[in-house]
Amino acid sequence: MTDKIRVRFAPSPTGHLHIGGARTALFNWLYARHNNGTYILRIEDTDTTRSTDEYIEAITEGMKWLGLDWDEGPFRQTDRFDIYRSYADKLVKEGNAYYCYCSPEELEARRKESMAQGRPLKYNGRCRDLKEPVPGVKPVVRFRMPREGRTIVDDLIKGTVSFENEQLDDLIILRSDGTPTYNLTVVVDDVDMKITHIIRGDDHLNNTPKQIQLYNAFGYPLPKFAHLPMILGSDKARLSKRHGATSVMAYYDMGYLPDALVNYLVRLGWSYGDQEVFTQDELVKYFSFENVGKAAAVFNPEKLLWLNSQYIINSSTDKLAELVLPFLEKDGIIETRQHMDMTWLSKAVGTLKERSKTLLELANSLRYYIAEEVEYNEKAKDKFLNEKSRDLLAALKEDLASAPEFSHHGLEQVFKSVVEKHGVKLKDLAQPVRVAMTGGTESPGIFEVLEVLGKEKTIKRLEKAIKVIG
Ligand code: GLU
Repeated sequence: MTDKIRVRFAPSPTGHLHIGGARTALFNWLYARHNNGTYILRIEDTDTTRSTDEYIEAITEGMKWLGLDWDEGPFRQTDRFDIYRSYADKLVKEGNAYYCYCSPEELEARRKESMAQGRPLKYNGRCRDLKEPVPGVKPVVRFRMPREGRTIVDDLIKGTVSFENEQLDDLIILRSDGTPTYNLTVVVDDVDMKITHIIRGDDHLNNTPKQIQLYNAFGYPLPKFAHLPMILGSDKARLSKRHGATSVMAYYDMGYLPDALVNYLVRLGWSYGDQEVFTQDELVKYFSFENVGKAAAVFNPEKLLWLNSQYIINSSTDKLAELVLPFLEKDGIIETRQHMDMTWLSKAVGTLKERSKTLLELANSLRYYIAEEVEYNEKAKDKFLNEKSRDLLAALKEDLASAPEFSHHGLEQVFKSVVEKHGVKLKDLAQPVRVAMTGGTESPGIFEVLEVLGKEKTIKRLEKAIKVIG
């Protein structure tokens, strides 16, 4: 029986949850769920100048929307400063860390000098063996890094990565104001929270040897590391706003389904044969690091859009009707959902879901079903609402008004008899009717549209079209 797996997602609340962060959150979540482990949310808010409560709210909102529920937390690092200090004190006491009194000006001057001489930019160790404190100076605390040998990172994705200790700096773990720095807080928290697997972006790989040395100094066993390859834009540069929307909630606003985004995110780096579409249960069941690639993944918005359309097609109309409500409200298509007839809406959605790639598109198409007055596209109106179609529309109106049933079959009969009587083709009638009903020339099948609109609205719209033609 192995120890229980404990993983964490540790965002810094200095921005919204973005695509890269969400993928890290997701891989941690999948690993936890796959192993019946524990998923911890830890907010790394030690950078108090850039961290805000609004961003914490935004990050948890994004995670909830994606369905990434956590078991413990959110813990905030700013609540834990005493813990970090006590760990730092322990390091000093045992000789693994020391006070450094070098002033920022001195350090800067030495840095410039090193740069000019082409030497590595690391601390020169002047205070490493200092016996007495320097009066009147508030020191920082530096970690005493070994100067010889190597640190090996044994990574579940990258394999074995080796670092020369000589290259590692005596890093500052407490600033002169007593606040802790990133590498200390991460290691202390991961130790204290009994994290067994550290799953994060490979932009942190260079921090890992330093963190391993901190584990060694504390005398704690190492967790397992899994560094995920970066996500790039189509031009192979690191994914940024330039490549389109990168915030997770922007995809909510654009009408993406959370399951579609999750499915897309998991495929950024992970694969399972040729399978593209996964249920959540399948993802949890199949996930492992063996199938995470080493190479950077390229973010492809078109593929995400395609996946979203697949999820829309495969969702029930009842579910889509629920999901589209906020978009109808936001776009002012309905005032409030309170009086919405959900059975009717579900039927209307059924005619449109194969044609809508996002909920936003779906909401926009629903506009012509819901609105009292239809708005014509000028071109469509000029082309189809004219002398030629007036008599056809008038005849159809008469026959529909007395039609016994407003079903697909009944409508088909009425249309057939009108076109036969006038010696025209079905499309000669269908296109003008389409413009009269929807304002444009593209819509679901005309009988479906009429069925959804119902008799009263259909007749009203035919009357309006006839009046417009004059
Ligand atoms: N707070 C770090 C970040 O947002 C993550 C640190 C870690 O996962 O170890 O990049």
